[in-house]
Amino acid sequence: MNEYVKKDLKYIWHPCGQMKDYEDLNPIVIEKGEGVWLYDIDGNKYLDCISSWWTNTLGHSNKRINEAIKKQIDSIEHVIFANFSSKPAIELAEKLVNITPEKLTKVFFSDNGSSAVEIALKMSFHYNMQKGNTKKKRFVTLSDAYHGETLGALSVCDIDQFNMIYKPLLLDTIRVEGPDCYRCKYDCIRDNCSAECFESMENCIMKNHEEISAIIVEPMVQGAAGMKIYSPVYLRKLRELCDKYEIHLIADEIAMGFGRTGEMFACNHAQISPDFMCLSKGISAGYMPMSVVMTTDEIYDCFYGDYSERKSFLHSHTYSGNAIGCAIALENLKIFEEDNIVENSREKGQLIRKLTLEKSKTSKHVGEVRSIGMITAIEIVKDKWTKEGYPWHMRVGYEIYRIALKKGLLLRPIGNVLYFIPPFIISKEEIKFMINTCFQSIEEYFIESKL
Ligand SMILES: *Cc1c(COP(=O)(O)O)cnc(C)c1O
Repeated sequence: MNEYVKKDLKYIWHPCGQMKDYEDLNPIVIEKGEGVWLYDIDGNKYLDCISSWWTNTLGHSNKRINEAIKKQIDSIEHVIFANFSSKPAIELAEKLVNITPEKLTKVFFSDNGSSAVEIALKMSFHYNMQKGNTKKKRFVTLSDAYHGETLGALSVCDIDQFNMIYKPLLLDTIRVEGPDCYRCKYDCIRDNCSAECFESMENCIMKNHEEISAIIVEPMVQGAAGMKIYSPVYLRKLRELCDKYEIHLIADEIAMGFGRTGEMFACNHAQISPDFMCLSKGISAGYMPMSVVMTTDEIYDCFYGDYSERKSFLHSHTYSGNAIGCAIALENLKIFEEDNIVENSREKGQLIRKLTLEKSKTSKHVGEVRSIGMITAIEIVKDKWTKEGYPWHMRVGYEIYRIALKKGLLLRPIGNVLYFIPPFIISKEEIKFMINTCFQSIEEYFIESKL
């Protein structure tokens, strides 16, 4: 066994999994990245079709971003963000205000997605306390939602594996049955969906609006739920009722922001402006931990005053507004603009969808192919008619992932859902390799396991 692997196993506790797995499937030590490819210390290469947990936008070791970092490092790497600021932070804030929905005018910096969610929840609650809405102290979340894993963020998650054990520590959140287009209980026409499933949200709001501070959603796509895509009509209805009942709408665009859905921000599909927008992951091109919460003048103004009034938002993260992170984000956005990344991604997304659909036709195991923008997901089912899936403990996705790794493809399935969310710079040839390898892995798994 390689020395690095030995030491990794000895010293490191990896995220989101069972360490026992690592003894069988050893940690893969990556030495180099280039474009969509990752190279390990044994000379194997892997196509990173999940953008290293949905972060990488323009490929690994992107020349322009590398240059921007080098340039920034020679001036200022980081400076305390209280009372101090930096050119890249200021330029980035201006840029973000210009490209996000119109009501978002203020930028609060942080350093990871969960923190951004915490900030939005705290700001919403604090706003209501200041306004004398002392009953408004609960949050609403959708079934299968994912918003991060610190305690506040976990409180608005609805993924049992992540939060079941911690329930005694979590906030008293209201959970609403959300959209589920693949297993829709309403007779919706897919391409002309009127989001009848909004009914449960409407009932919840009617019943609880006096107590609700904010509703948090992942606009258009519930990523960690298995790339569950839903209608923009749902978001428009939600915006309308939030306005009517003075409830904040928090758009968690941590995963879907920066072009993944074929629009710069997922909210753009519904043409809505949320009260808070959380951004992270793709913001810094997959290079640095970084996040922001964007909000409105109305909320900002409510916090403006003197200390004695308890108006100040006393929340900070040490690395807020890190200058290198901001320089990266700025260069990332510059490339997005100059190379028309979002517009050009639509055609690539269509190609991924088309090829995946073609392949899935001959597969007995694919229940649904769903896609939006650069995201395409494949749900493996036991029975196409009943849409019954394989139970979690069989780890069908994980086994397919292991087969794909040997063939040079890095998938990271969620349960029975395999998905592609590659860096935008992926080529046609690479797209073909990605899809062919994925389907070969699926078929091989089912032949070997005799399922
Ligand atoms: C990844 C993610 C988060 C959490 O971000 P971290 O940086 O991992 O804390 C929150 N919400 C959504 C939608 C995400 O995809």
